[in-house]
Amino acid sequence: MAPSAITTDHNDIPVAKVDVHIPTGSAILHRDLHQDPSKVVRASGNYLTLSNGQVVLDATGGAAVSCIGHGSQRVKNAIAAQLDETAYCHSLFFTSSGAEGLARVLVDSTHGEMAKAFIVSSGSEAMEAAMKLARQYYLEISPAQPQRTRFIARNESYHGTTLGALSMSGHRARRAKFEPMLLDNVSRVSACNTYRGMRGSETVEDYVARLSQELDDEFQRVGPDTVCAFVAEPVVGAALGCVPSPPGYFKAMKAICKKYGALLIMDEVMCGMGRCGTFHAWEHEGMVPDIQTIGKGLGGGYAPIAAILMNHRVLDGLDKGSGSFVHGQTYQGHPVSCAAALEVQKIIREESLVENVRVMGDYLSSSLKARIGNHPNVGDIRGRGLFWGIEFVKCKASREPFPAAAKIANTISTRAIDPKYSMTTYPGTGTADGYVGDHVLLAPAYNVTHDIIDKIVDTMGAVIEEVFQEIS
Ligand code: PLP
Repeated sequence: MAPSAITTDHNDIPVAKVDVHIPTGSAILHRDLHQDPSKVVRASGNYLTLSNGQVVLDATGGAAVSCIGHGSQRVKNAIAAQLDETAYCHSLFFTSSGAEGLARVLVDSTHGEMAKAFIVSSGSEAMEAAMKLARQYYLEISPAQPQRTRFIARNESYHGTTLGALSMSGHRARRAKFEPMLLDNVSRVSACNTYRGMRGSETVEDYVARLSQELDDEFQRVGPDTVCAFVAEPVVGAALGCVPSPPGYFKAMKAICKKYGALLIMDEVMCGMGRCGTFHAWEHEGMVPDIQTIGKGLGGGYAPIAAILMNHRVLDGLDKGSGSFVHGQTYQGHPVSCAAALEVQKIIREESLVENVRVMGDYLSSSLKARIGNHPNVGDIRGRGLFWGIEFVKCKASREPFPAAAKIANTISTRAIDPKYSMTTYPGTGTADGYVGDHVLLAPAYNVTHDIIDKIVDTMGAVIEEVFQEIS
């Protein structure tokens, strides 16, 4: 119910009487001002329990976050143990067992490729830190290259919501309202999307060659020695729906960065930390980035945490330069978040969960293709590991997408969560110029079983059939 109208301010000074309307009961500014989301009161393994008693199968781990499932007693114990040592200490003067342990595990997981970790609280913050680190690197090396202020990113990408990270992102809907506030030192090239991007008789090799030429041309256009870094997600998550690149693409991109002396930043916030069947998504690509961002699966949702990892080249630049990264945040390397993430990482290793991602990922992919691959409105099923996207089309042959107004992805996800089906899916809408496509994303926990996958696939199939039957 709306509170009574305000007639005085907090100093008891009368103010004009206004009609106060608060759309819903929650004091939180939820995404939808007119409908509060359901409240989760318990979570265990693959399931969420809502306050109305509904039990929901979490087939997405939120947005590819809950990688070991919910309610781990081990993680709770690790958090408590870190709290016994210290909940917080400022990174300017102090460090903690949680932060040191986590950074060591992360660096060691890169087979010597990465030299240090910088730990923050969200993927967006990680992108901001990566951008600043790249810039600072060129100021610190000898001779310095202060003219390097630009970044080249890709269309149909999402790198975060803060202004720097959003400037990198090609996600038009998320940028639109803030466009005048975004950085003008970022330009973008085409995404790599074999389903949507390949032309006529083009082979994969032709396609990769064309995209390489486009990146090369963009370096030339903006001035090759003005670019700090090329930025890309190895498997595009929210913006495209789990789109991996064909073999050779990232090697070719890295070669162009090398040609012009720029860094390569890989954004693994969504697709990294085991999600794609290797600890790091770049392990599929036969090359290593200079800086990578990680998030989501790093802490498995037990605490807000993300990080960047930097290679020896970047570290060496700073080491021989000022010896300090001019970037800091109150909660960087937060002891409790780090302790939670460290335990998640230990569980992943001790229970061989990355191997399980590969095995169960193959099973999820083949089951999805068998169950819905022939559906006339399923255009593409693609992904890697336990990170799968289903793209919907109006016409399978022409790949014509549905109009945006049809809100297909949202309709599917809303229907899936209905008590009749009770399962999460993560909806998304294509973001390219002139093209609006719909997809939903599936990203179950790394310890998912055959039974749960069967349930996910059956539910997905039933929801898709019902929704498209209704609109046909
Ligand atoms: N980068 C990628 C690839 C993402 O998918 C996201 C979030 O979805 C981000 C960055 C931003 O992460 P956060 O939402 O934790 O700030």
